[in-house]
Amino acid sequence: MKLFRHAADLIEWRRENRLLSVGFVPTMGALHNGHISLIEKAKSENPLVVCSIFVNPTQFNNADDLKRYPRTPEQDLAMLAAAGCDVVFMPDEAEIYPAAPQMQLNFGNLEEVMEGSHRPGHFNGVGLVVSKLFHMVQPDRAYFGQKDLQQFLIIKRLVADLSFPVQLVCCPVVREADGLAMSSRNVRLSAEARLQAPALYRALTEAQQRITQGENPQMVCSEITRRLNETGIFSVEYLTLADTETLASVQSPQAGMEYALCIAAFLDGVRLIDNVVFRM
Ligand code: AMP
Repeated sequence: MKLFRHAADLIEWRRENRLLSVGFVPTMGALHNGHISLIEKAKSENPLVVCSIFVNPTQFNNADDLKRYPRTPEQDLAMLAAAGCDVVFMPDEAEIYPAAPQMQLNFGNLEEVMEGSHRPGHFNGVGLVVSKLFHMVQPDRAYFGQKDLQQFLIIKRLVADLSFPVQLVCCPVVREADGLAMSSRNVRLSAEARLQAPALYRALTEAQQRITQGENPQMVCSEITRRLNETGIFSVEYLTLADTETLASVQSPQAGMEYALCIAAFLDGVRLIDNVVFRM
């Protein structure tokens, strides 16, 4: 496995391998089996796999969250080598941002809901870094997790609007045995909070079941939100039934159509997100 810290070396490697298709998995490190599932999917579809590890400062709207974001580079490299990754790109901040970016991306309605409305500037930062990485890696396919459903839709928009010649692949959410969606932030939970955390996925599955049985989505979501908040452990930012393409909130779901139930909540000072996609 090759490790590059400079874009010029990565670009040179890509030139030497220009006839082979590359699958690309962008990450912020502190890798877990959710990330590894993306590497495995990329490996099954491409002769070469590139993974980037870069904690992107422009997508953090909270300085403390950036400072406390877990960083485990040695362990990450060992996991990637074991998974058969071919190239790891691990740049420092100056490599990606030699100058402070001035460009502002606007994703329209898609960034006005959920993560976009609670994390101002977040998707501008995501769009910038993914664009830069796509230019450097020049992947044929890029792999993202459904765990960050809104991020996937934002990147789909980015690729369509800027004509990046890359095929996007959305991979299913990998969960712990108790249902908690794997996340780099989970290691920041106290032992007590970690025991409570699966309640988020249980909330999603309960809401899914009640909505498919015909209950009103808004009533179900506000009742479950109130219950989670009343524990005193969770502080729910949103729990919504959304259209899977636009993420617009849905009041009257139609039989046979696909929807996403999405949740974001603070637990023990850690912000967690999760979602389930299902057909009515
Ligand atoms: P991150 O390092 O959090 O930026 O995530 C890098 C990529 O891994 C993103 O495409 C995420 O959606 C994906 N990812 C994170 N957690 C999971 C998970 N539990 N299951 C599947 N993919 C995930």
